[in-house]
Amino acid sequence: MSIKQTDQTYIAATYARQDVALTYGSGAELFDEQGSRLIDLGSGIAVNVFGAGDQAWVQAVSHQAGQLQHTSNYYYTQPQTKLAQALCELSGMRKVFFSNSGAEANECAIKTARKYASDRDAGQEHVIITLENSFHGRTLTTLSATGQSAMHQHFGPFTPGFVHVPANDLGAMKAAFLQHPVCAVMLEMVQGEGGVNPLDQAYVQAVAQLAAQQDALIIVDEVQTGVGRTGTFYAYQRYGIVPDIVTSAKGLGGGLPIGATLFGEKTADVLTHGTHGSTFGGNPVCCAGALSVVSRVDEALLQGVVQRHDMIVSELAGAKGVQGITGLGLMIGIKTEKPAAEVVAQCLQQGLLVLSAKDKVRLLPPLNIPFELLAEGLDILKEVIAS
Ligand SMILES: *Cc1c(COP(=O)(O)O)cnc(C)c1O
Repeated sequence: MSIKQTDQTYIAATYARQDVALTYGSGAELFDEQGSRLIDLGSGIAVNVFGAGDQAWVQAVSHQAGQLQHTSNYYYTQPQTKLAQALCELSGMRKVFFSNSGAEANECAIKTARKYASDRDAGQEHVIITLENSFHGRTLTTLSATGQSAMHQHFGPFTPGFVHVPANDLGAMKAAFLQHPVCAVMLEMVQGEGGVNPLDQAYVQAVAQLAAQQDALIIVDEVQTGVGRTGTFYAYQRYGIVPDIVTSAKGLGGGLPIGATLFGEKTADVLTHGTHGSTFGGNPVCCAGALSVVSRVDEALLQGVVQRHDMIVSELAGAKGVQGITGLGLMIGIKTEKPAAEVVAQCLQQGLLVLSAKDKVRLLPPLNIPFELLAEGLDILKEVIAS
């Protein structure tokens, strides 16, 4: 049987896969079973920050795998502590809880917000406000947090205590605060799965102020936007707010599964012995890989992200078939005359991997993609969009 046939026979049909089996990669170039080359502008959904087979990352991961691959959290390990310290120094947050995915990082954020409120006034109902069109994960509670009604089918009853309001609508946010006992607001600075929609800065700052007045926490979901993706280490750093909780995953591990929930001043000591845990969370191999990634997201790399952003926008803005461009840094949404799914499929046939999000074509290239390769990819993309 071919890979495709075996997959379709034995793997649950939750994914509408693109018709290609990938076997090898180097940087932003991936190769299929036949050895054909593909230019990768998706990074495995913002995961492979430095592309495929990045040598520093491979070395960090292989070295740690050879030392000790796992310990559980009964014991101290150095990669975990070093990574936590690096994340706190880069973000200004105080403490970290490690898990294995974005959804888990958000679960931890939600549990922390509920406990923060319950430590203050136990027995009260504690509501978390999220935005319409948001995406926070696939577990039942993070699905409840996710503001997309299409995802709220089949799996009820959902976790109660979530209210969704339209993005960039301060009036709706204020009304929700009046109607509910709010313990937290959870936001993506740029909605990723929702169609690459950045929030307005004035809105984000006003929401943060409103929340602070009510002692409600600001949770920023940086699972997709984090680790340099938008041109700063975390996207909230562009928005001039200080969150109470930040969640990070996807690019953090550079290709191995890891989630991190970062706690600020108010929340650093909310989780106490026995209130949360994870068998694999902070696994030393994942942490060694993450540390290698995080330590190289420096000013030079971030400037490169901005340069590549500008290049993409100047190539595509006004190009035939392009109706609009949204996003920050190397998280870009392109509204096209053609349906996004058609663009994705036709790009694949031309040797280019791009993604979609709602009605947009979505680009999430490796942050260090060589300019020539990016230019080559954009030429293909422009041609497909125009045809
Ligand atoms: C991908 C994503 C998640 C879920 O992450 P998983 O690792 O798939 O659980 C949560 N929030 C945002 C903003 C995401 O983009």
